Amino acid sequence: MATIRFHALKEVLSRKPVEFKNPYSKSSDYYSSNVFNLKIMREYMTPDAYKVVVAAIETGKKIDRNMADSIAASMKAWASSRGVTHYTHWFQPLTGSTAEKHDAFFEPTMDGQAIERFDGGQLVQQEPDASSFPNGGIRNTFEARGYTAWDPTSPAFIMGSTLCIPTVFVSYTGEALDNKTPLLRALQAIDEAATEVCRYFDKRVNKVVATLGWEQEYFLVDTAMYNARPDLVLSGRTLLGQAPAKGQQLDDHYFGSIPERVMSFMRELEFESHKLGIPVKTRHNEVAPGQFELAPIFEETNVAVDHNSLLMDLLEKIARRHNMRVLLHEKPFANVNGSGKHNNWSLATDTGVNLLSPGKTPKSNLQFLTFFVNTIKAVKEHDNLLRAAIASAGNDHRLGANEAPPAIISVFIGSQLTEVLEELSKLESGKLSPEKKTDLKLNVVGKIPEILLDNTDRNRTSPFAFTGNKFEFRAVGSSANCASPMTILNTIMAKQLRLFKAEVDQLIADGMKKDDAIFNVLKTYINDSKAILFEGDGYSEDWVVEAAKRGLENVKTTPQALDFYVSDKAVALFQELEIMSSVEVHARHEIMLEEYFKKIQIESRVLGDIAGNHIVPTAIRYQNLLIENVQRLKDILEGEVFNKVAKEQLDMITEISERVSTIISEKESMIDARRRINKYEDTREKAIAYCDEVRPYMDRIRYQVDKLELLIDDELWPLPKYREMLFVK
Ligand code: ADP
Ligand code: MG
Repeated sequence: MATIRFHALKEVLSRKPVEFKNPYSKSSDYYSSNVFNLKIMREYMTPDAYKVVVAAIETGKKIDRNMADSIAASMKAWASSRGVTHYTHWFQPLTGSTAEKHDAFFEPTMDGQAIERFDGGQLVQQEPDASSFPNGGIRNTFEARGYTAWDPTSPAFIMGSTLCIPTVFVSYTGEALDNKTPLLRALQAIDEAATEVCRYFDKRVNKVVATLGWEQEYFLVDTAMYNARPDLVLSGRTLLGQAPAKGQQLDDHYFGSIPERVMSFMRELEFESHKLGIPVKTRHNEVAPGQFELAPIFEETNVAVDHNSLLMDLLEKIARRHNMRVLLHEKPFANVNGSGKHNNWSLATDTGVNLLSPGKTPKSNLQFLTFFVNTIKAVKEHDNLLRAAIASAGNDHRLGANEAPPAIISVFIGSQLTEVLEELSKLESGKLSPEKKTDLKLNVVGKIPEILLDNTDRNRTSPFAFTGNKFEFRAVGSSANCASPMTILNTIMAKQLRLFKAEVDQLIADGMKKDDAIFNVLKTYINDSKAILFEGDGYSEDWVVEAAKRGLENVKTTPQALDFYVSDKAVALFQELEIMSSVEVHARHEIMLEEYFKKIQIESRVLGDIAGNHIVPTAIRYQNLLIENVQRLKDILEGEVFNKVAKEQLDMITEISERVSTIISEKESMIDARRRINKYEDTREKAIAYCDEVRPYMDRIRYQVDKLELLIDDELWPLPKYREMLFVK
C-alpha cells in the first residue's frame, strides 16, 4: 500500500516547469496597463472631472454626486474597452485578507431586458451583504449594514474581467470595520503634524506623505506535497515534522541560484504585478530552503499597503498556476527560519525631500535630526503599542526565537549616529553661544551626510533599525496587513511631532531663537530616549536581562501584547488624534483576540486529528511488524541467543508503545481542555487559556510524533517529510 506521500513525491518528480512567456518586449508596453491611473484618467475624463479627482487625491476634497456620475462613466468606458464585465468594491476587512463582491455592469430591468449600469452611486458607495466579516460587536449582524466607500487616493484596477475599486468599509454608524479607514486617518494626522514641523525649515512645504517600502518573504511548496499535508491545508503551517538532516547551516540557499520552476513563477508574478502598477524589483532566495523574497520600490503608504495586499493575492493565484502553493505563515516549518515583512518607512515632503535622509547643508541636517530624534522618541514613548501592532498567533513563533527581531522593541541607529546623539545630549540647556552653535553646525550636524555615506552598520537583530535614509520596522509578520503597523507608527509619530511643535513654540514664545529652541528640545528627547536605543545583539540572552533592567517589556505572546492596544494611554492617543474611537479600538481588540484563539483552536484540532488518524495507526502497524518479527525469531532461536538478538527490537516496541500511549492520552486531555475553555464567555480569558493551556499540549504531542518519525519505517510514514517539502524540486 503506497501512502499519499509517495503519490505526492512521484508527482513532484515528474513535474515540468510551467512555461511563462512575457508577450511584450518592453516593460513600458504593459506597466500599469491594468490601472486607472492619472494618465488614463486624463484620457478618459472631462477636464473638470479630472481636476476633481486630483483634488480628492491631493487634498482629500469631497466629490459630489454629479461628478461621481461622470467619473464612473469614464471608468466604465475604460474598463469596458478592456473587456471588463464586472466591478467590485475591493476592501480589507479585519480578517487580514482582502474581500470583494462582484456585480455585473448589467442590471436587469422590470421588462426582463438588461441595461448596462454603473453610475456615481455604484462607484462611491455600496452596501455589501457583508454581515459575516468580523466587527467586534459594533454591527448587529441581523442589521447587516456595513458600507464600502470609494477611496480615490488608491487607483482602481482590473483583475481578470473585473474592475476593482479600492474602498473603505465602515459600519452603518460610521465606525471603521476595515484596515484602511484608521490608516487613512493616521496618514492625515502625520501629514498635518509633519507639515507644521517642516515649516520651521521650509515655508514652501504644504504636504508630507509617509512612504512605505515592504519586503515580503514567503515559502513555496509543491501543490502535491501541500495537499498531502492536512496541517498545511488547514492551518497554513506544519504542526509536526522532524527537522531535515541538512538545514540552512550551509547558507547555500541565500542568494543561491533559483530553481527553474520558481524562476518561471517569479517572472509571471513580476509581469502581473507590473501590469497592476506594483513596482516590484528585487527577487532572491532567502535564508531558509524553499524561502524567497520580493520587494518593490517604495510608494506612498496607502498605495503601498494596497499593493502589498494585492501582491499577497497574486502570489497565491500565480503559484497555483505553477503547481506550487505559497506559504505566507510566519513559521511554516519549526527549526527553519520563519518569514517576515520588513516595513521600510520614511516621510517625504511635496517639495521632494526625504525627511529621514540627511542633506548637504547644516540647515537641512537640522531638519533631518529633528525627524530622526522625534522618531526615536515616539518609539520610546509607545514601544508597547508597536509591539501590539505586530502581534499575531503566527508571529509569536518568530518574535523571541533566535532568528527574528525579539519581542522587545528597541531602536538601532549605528555607531556614528550614536556618537552624534551623544554629542548633542551633552549640550547645556538654554541659549547657545554663537561659537557653540557654529561648532555644532560645522562639526556635528554638518558632518552627518559624510558619516552616513560610509555607515555600513547592518544590525539584523534589531526590530526597528535606521538604515541610512529610512527606518526599517522588521518585526512585522509575513502574513500581516501592513496597515496595522503603519497606522500605529504614523499615529505615534504624529503625536510626537505635535508635542515637539508645542514645546519648541513655547521656547520661542519665551524669547529663544528658533534653532536654539529646536536644539534644546532635541537634547531633552535624546536624554529621555536612551533606554530604547540598543546597538548590540538583539538575539542574545544578555539583551533580555539588560532590557529588563531598562524597564522595557518583553511580551512573547499575542493575548498579552494586545493588552497594550487598549491601555488607557493608547485609547487616549487614538481618540486625541481621531484615529479610532474607544468603541473602534475595543472592537478591534476583541476581533484580534478572537482571531488568535480560533487559530490555536484550529491548529489544536488538526494536530489531534493527524496524530490520532495518521500517526498512531502508522506507529501501530510498524509495531506489529516488529512484534511479528520478534515472534518468528523466537521460533527459530534458542533462549540465550534470542534474548541477545531481540533486545533492541523489544526496546523499540516498548518505545513505540510508550509514545503512542502518550500521544493518545495527551490528545484526550487536550480535547478536555478545549471543551472547558470553549465555555469561557470572556474573549481575552479564552485567548489566554488557549495560549497557556492548549499550546503546551500541542508541543508535547508534536515532540512524541517527531520522535516516532525517526523510528518508523520510511515507507510507512504517511506525510511528506520536511526534507521532501523543502528540498525536492
Ligand atoms: P534590505 O533587504 O537590505 O533591507 P532591500 O533593498 O531589499 O534592503 O529593501 C529596501 C526597501 O526599502 C525597499 O523596499 C525600498 O523600496 C525601501 N525604501 C527605500 N527608501 C525608502 C524610503 N524613503 N521610504 C520607504 N521605503 C524606502
Ligand atoms: Mg530589510
